[in-house]
Amino acid sequence: MGFEQNIRKVEPYVAGEQPKNPGVIKLNTNECPYPPSPLVKEAEGKIDYEKLRLYPDMNAEKLVDALAEYYQVKPSQVFVGVGSDDVLSMAFLTFFNGSLPVLFPDITYSFYDVWADLYRIPYKTCPLTEDFHIRKEDYLVPNGGIIFPNPNAPTGVLEEVSMIEEIIRANQDVVVIIDEAYIDFGGESVLPLIDKYENLLVVQTFSKSRAMAGMRIGYAMGNEKLIRYLKDAKFSFNSYTMNLPSIEMGTAAVKDDAYFKETTGKIIATRERVKKEMKKLGFFFTDSMSNFLFAGHENVPAGELFRALKENDIYVRYWNKDRISNRLRITIGTDEQMDRFLEFLRSYLNN
Ligand SMILES: *Cc1c(COP(=O)(O)O)cnc(C)c1O
Repeated sequence: MGFEQNIRKVEPYVAGEQPKNPGVIKLNTNECPYPPSPLVKEAEGKIDYEKLRLYPDMNAEKLVDALAEYYQVKPSQVFVGVGSDDVLSMAFLTFFNGSLPVLFPDITYSFYDVWADLYRIPYKTCPLTEDFHIRKEDYLVPNGGIIFPNPNAPTGVLEEVSMIEEIIRANQDVVVIIDEAYIDFGGESVLPLIDKYENLLVVQTFSKSRAMAGMRIGYAMGNEKLIRYLKDAKFSFNSYTMNLPSIEMGTAAVKDDAYFKETTGKIIATRERVKKEMKKLGFFFTDSMSNFLFAGHENVPAGELFRALKENDIYVRYWNKDRISNRLRITIGTDEQMDRFLEFLRSYLNN
């Protein structure tokens, strides 16, 4: 043992693979299959190289202002971070500091229990129903805070705003975090509720609907007090987390709403088309409102399909975990990618 006894040991989050081979059809980490807005490229070209020797604006004011304007909130209600993973982990550290357990679903984003363990936060998971919905009653008990994604991941299941509002209203002594990483693919955001409930924090990201996973931009919106507490914690770690290119290019992305609507609209249309085709092939799945499907097949085990797809350079995500071991999570790609995916399934299932 020796020195190892005092080391903080953690079981890290396992991210989806990033294959080196460019021929892979990559449907495994929910990235956007389209490039970012052309305005982002333009903004990149205008970045003053000489300025890189300076520390960036610690408040990322330009990006915060653009987000505040876009979402019609005050800049003091916006917090930005290096991907929403950074924002969420900061929120865990800041807001989940009680002795009662923090509550989240048993099937959800697998970073939540990692952060809870890392920060020694007590937590309790609440089982989703058979059809992967949240049971409201599970969250109407004493707790140390609440977090879940809406739509949930990896299930894609969207919950009604009215139901989420009931949970927020019943839990005004703790912070409720709604992780809206996939809200732009057809769901209704709870953002309008931040002025009504001081305990609500809404977290979103540029990684999925804004096609900028590589820039690492995430943000939270909520009551000014919540945002101030988040900043205090963040500035106690590292004040200059968002780099200059991310601030410039992120700001440009927010300003191109037409492109944003066009790409998210395309992904939604492809998703609905793929649902129909997969149904014909004997797949069952949730009515996903995200940029991925959560599907299983009536005859072929998901693990087998996962391996067969991978051998043919089509990467999807599979977890050999309780309750979801017969499902694949399939990111919606371009129409062309999805046609090749469907073509493979047709030939595989016919043999
Ligand atoms: C992808 C994802 C995130 C975080 O993504 P970032 O790239 O860190 O912004 C957060 N929550 C859920 C549920 C996600 O699927």
